[in-house]
Amino acid sequence: MSQNLFENLIRTIPDFPKPGIQFKDITPVLANPEARIWVLEALVAQLSGKSIDAVAGIESRGFLFGMLVAQRLGVPFVPIRKKGKLPHNTYSETYNLEYGTAEIEMHTDAVSIGSRVLVHDDLLATGGTAAAAARLLQQAGAQVAGFQFLIELHSLKGRHVLEPFGAPVEALVLF
Ligand code: AMP
Repeated sequence: MSQNLFENLIRTIPDFPKPGIQFKDITPVLANPEARIWVLEALVAQLSGKSIDAVAGIESRGFLFGMLVAQRLGVPFVPIRKKGKLPHNTYSETYNLEYGTAEIEMHTDAVSIGSRVLVHDDLLATGGTAAAAARLLQQAGAQVAGFQFLIELHSLKGRHVLEPFGAPVEALVLF
């Protein structure tokens, strides 16, 4: 398995979930055991030499590989979920979507003060979701150790939105 094969397994679905959106569908990657191994190894390799105390994955596609990365690093996995899904006390952050706003939450006891936490999601588009996740970590007194994605949609400039957090932004493939 190689970078090329991984890229070829990412399926672009035009006009989903609404007109004008080119949806990057990773289900063919999930279906391919060799591709899963390649992706996990590539994600772990990006983190080599970095000090990461926990991985925070963003619901829901950020759970798929985020959990595997946390397992490989031997650190806690922290689920960041849509509003109303987490059962215990939560911090909350609102962010802008193309139409309207959205809210994500994290348990108040999910990360330790001063710990270095990696934000992980499947895809970086405008950066609004990952920035809100980073603010959740800041509310909890943790440090953003980095941002990690499988896919970055370069033209949407999400990378610039994440710059103020002063942490590296990495993706396996750029479209
Ligand atoms: P954004 O906040 O604009 O960076 O959007 C990132 C979030 O929305 C991620 O959780 C992605 O899973 C999802 N997302 C946004 N755009 C796309 C796309 N074109 N294809 C697949 N997922 C997307």
